[in-house]
This record gives sequence, structure tokens and C-alpha cells, in this order.
Amino acid sequence: MTNKSVKVDSPNVTYTEDYILSNYTYNNSVVEETEKEILIKPVKTKYSFKTDRRVVKTGMMLVGWGGSNGTTITAGIIANKMGINWRTNRGINEPNYFGSMFQCSTVRVGVNKEGQDVYVPFKSVLPSVNPNDLVIGGWDINKMNLADAMERAQVLDYDLTKQLKPYMKDMTPLPSIYAPDFIASNQSDRANHVIQGSKAEQLEKIRQDIKNFKEENKLDKVIILWTANTERFSAVVENVNDTAENLLSSIEDPEIDEISPSTLFAVASILEGCTYINGSPQNSFVPGVIELAEQNNVMLAGDDFKTGQTKFKSVMVDFLISAGIKPVSIVSYNHLGNNDGKNLSSSRQFKSKEISKSNVVDDMVNSNRILYEKGEKPDHVVVIKYVPYVGDSKRALDEYTSEIFMGGINTIVVHNTCEDSLLAAPIMIDLVILAELCERIQWKTEETEEFQNFHPILSILSYMLKAPVVPKNTPVINSLFKQKSCIENIFRACIGLEPENNMLLEHKTI
Ligand code: NAD
Repeated sequence: MTNKSVKVDSPNVTYTEDYILSNYTYNNSVVEETEKEILIKPVKTKYSFKTDRRVVKTGMMLVGWGGSNGTTITAGIIANKMGINWRTNRGINEPNYFGSMFQCSTVRVGVNKEGQDVYVPFKSVLPSVNPNDLVIGGWDINKMNLADAMERAQVLDYDLTKQLKPYMKDMTPLPSIYAPDFIASNQSDRANHVIQGSKAEQLEKIRQDIKNFKEENKLDKVIILWTANTERFSAVVENVNDTAENLLSSIEDPEIDEISPSTLFAVASILEGCTYINGSPQNSFVPGVIELAEQNNVMLAGDDFKTGQTKFKSVMVDFLISAGIKPVSIVSYNHLGNNDGKNLSSSRQFKSKEISKSNVVDDMVNSNRILYEKGEKPDHVVVIKYVPYVGDSKRALDEYTSEIFMGGINTIVVHNTCEDSLLAAPIMIDLVILAELCERIQWKTEETEEFQNFHPILSILSYMLKAPVVPKNTPVINSLFKQKSCIENIFRACIGLEPENNMLLEHKTI
């Protein structure tokens, strides 16, 4: 599919040199429920969207750069950029971005004169950064260079790693913040590249690293992504991390320990005006971080990459419940042998993952009061075991038991095997590219004078995240199809197109 530019010819859309301006009517309904009836009143809101067309030089800084995900995403981008082919026993392979929803899926934009659907690459709907152009840097508590770290991760084929090594041998992570209380004790032998000093000094060092990276690479913006080890949950403590002000003064206070490295990175990013994405399950975004982001109008997205088992679950359970079938028991086993698995073999870090994985069916269950009473939920258990031999090739086994017609029971069992980091890397790319694009979209309604950005908590990126963080008092959506159509339809609105409604009326009214 060629990458032609996409342009909409409509009185609602104006293309200037720098912006795409669109007028869009958002149709919703307000519902009033009485004892006897449910009264639905359609409402319309007029929005204007302004998308900056200028795609600027963007950097991506990874926390945990030397890990399996960090090395795989770096290697993948270099291989794509340099067009590196490699040989395996199945023949010659070419680099691609498969698994990136934004780079490799398509959007239906209408019908042609012959009445056939026309699809365009999703990435061509609005101007976006080409992943090949991302400048990559980052931090790790382990000082191994990226070439050796890629070999240590044992994810990519030998012939590819051999060709990539010259490009990666001079990439060395910056030292990072190590707080042994937050990651598993089995990671201590990796921690040989650590920033010393107080929390305030560590924060200052990270801020300086971001400034230097931006300056040295002549970047217009930087996006920061946590792909380091899963931390234990932080306690949310009054006067410590519950407000922005308390959090900032706790960082200055050497007596306070309950500030995790990932929270310090989030604070540094916000203070440097850089969007921060949390790819692990821990609650880096304590209330003080969220308030600080809101005050500074800097974007955050999290938590935890939605890659294999959970992604499948958020499709499977959506399918079952929307088919009128009642899942009553969902049991998920995982075993993996990479360093992430080793870290998760420790109970406090496993707890973070368990929490992140456990709420993923809630919105689907709550949407159906025919199948489930209020408060009723399927049994849902998640087990993760560390089995070194399988390395990055994670095994996920799920059993879905459902009640069906007339007391019948239906059990579906799924076995999924895949290199974990090959699933995660394209999702990390989507998160960074889409977050950057969201920074360039502004909106207003008839009631608001000025254009403004989306809310700093980027719930629009929920598709890529296992436990989406959303603005206060707004719903969490886990269903994968709803999440996808959210992104697609918001981007369509930015070019004045109606949401995809799949009615295909033109073929039903002939
Ligand atoms: P990994 O253990 O291979 O890499 C993590 C890296 O982080 C290591 O190199 C480690 O030295 C470094 N590190 C630890 N603490 C650090 C700190 N404070 N600052 C800087 N670096 C630090 O793990 P991975 O497989 O790359 O996964 C990374 C994270 O992504 C994990 O938390 C994992 O749970 C999460 N995740 C992965 C997937 C997936 O499919 N791969 C899916 C969802 C979430």
C-alpha cells in the first residue's frame, strides 16, 4: 500500500500550511431513568479541532534502556532505518513494524466510484513522526552497552544481532536511580550504574540528562517511557505524595523513603515539559504526580503495556459478553524466563502485575445487567511463574469458562507462545508516536474561547495499556475494539470525518 497523503474535501475542513482545522458535531445522548422508563435525548456538541501539521525532531528516552524491551525496540528501529535484512533457516527476513497498530493497520475512509471500500494506512490520516526518525537514548542501572545487552536479552536472531552490533556498541545508557526497596532483590547484581546522592539531587540529575539529550541531538521534543523493572506499589500517604506540593517537598526531605524511582522520573519529565509514559504496572502516578502534570499541562499515559494475554482477554471477554454469553471463571497462567520474569518472581513486584491484570474485564461485566447482578464478577485468577529455560518466549495459558444456553457450560482454553519483547516493542513505538501526535491536537467548543490540549491524562492511548489511567471520575475502557475505535474516530474527527459506523447502507438499500 503506497503512502499517499490523505486530504478531505469538505466545507468543515481547512488545511493551512501549519494546521488542519476541522469543525465537527459530536453526537451523544443524555439518559434519564425513572421507575417506568429510560428516556434518551440525543444531544449535539459542536467541536473545532486544530492539528499542528509540523512534525518536529523527536527524541525517545527509555528508562530501562538496556533491558529486553529497550534493546529490542532500539534494534528494531535501527534495522528498519538501515534496511538490514537477515538470514534464518527459513530464508531472508526483512525488517517491519508488524504489531504496531498505527504503522501497520488501515482505516476505511469511504467508497470509490465502483462502490468499493477504500482503506488508507492509519498513520497517513494525520501527520506523525516516522519511527525511523526517533532519536533514542535512556537510562539503566546496568552499564552494559546496547549491543551486548541485546545479546544478553536473547530475543533477536543471531544474524540480525551480528549486523546490528556495530550500530549499537557505542550506545551506553546513562546511570539511573536505584532504590533496592522498590524492585526485587534478585536485581541487585545488575545495579552497577547508579546515580548517587539525595532524591533531590537524583531528580536534578535526570532533569539535566533530559536537557543535555535534547540539546546534543538538537531535538524539539522528548518523550520519556518507563520500560524498567516492575516496582512494588508505592503507598499513597497523606502529606507525602498526595498532592503536587507535598510530593515536591517530600523529594527534598531525606527522611521520606516512599518515593519510587519511577515517580522521580515522572516528576523530572513533567518539570522538563516532556510527556511521560509508564509501561510497567506500578502506581508511579501517585496523586501528587497527576496534580503536577495537570498544573504544568504535561501529558502522562499508563499503566503497563498491553501485549499478549491481556490483549487477548480484552477481546475474548468482550466477544463473549457481547454475544450474550456469561463468563464465570477466567484463569490465566504465565511462565517466562526473561529478567522481567525473574523480577516478577518476587511477591511484592508480582502483586503490582496481578493488580494491573485483574481489572481488565470490569467494564465489560458492568455493561451487562442481564448476565451479571450488580457487584457480581467472574472468578478471575492470574498466576505468573519464572522458568529460566524459556527465556523471552513467554507462555500464556488461559481457561475461559462460561454459562451458555439452558444451563450449558462452555470452556475455551488458549495457549499462546511468543517472544514477549517482540510484542512489546511495536506497542512502545505506538505509545510514543501517538503521544507525540496528541500533543499537537487542540480542541474547542462553542462555549470555550481558546483552543486547548486534551486532558493531560491521555486515556486515548488505553488501547496499548493494560490498566489505563484515566482522568478523575471518567470511565476506564478495557474493551480492545472500543479502545481502537476511540483513537480512530477522534483522528477522523480531526479531519472532519464521521465515526466509522459500519452500516454500509449503500449496499443494503439497492
Ligand atoms: P528487563 O528486565 O529485560 O529490562 C528492564 C531493565 O530495567 C533492565 O535492564 C534493568 O537493569 C533496568 N532497570 C531496573 N530498574 C531501573 C531503574 N530504576 N532505572 C533504570 N533502569 C532500571 O524487562 P523487560 O522485559 O524489558 O520489561 C520491562 C518492563 O516492561 C517490565 O516492568 C515489564 O513488566 C513491563 N512489561 C513488559 C511487557 C512485555 O511484553 N515485554 C508487557 C507489559 C509490561
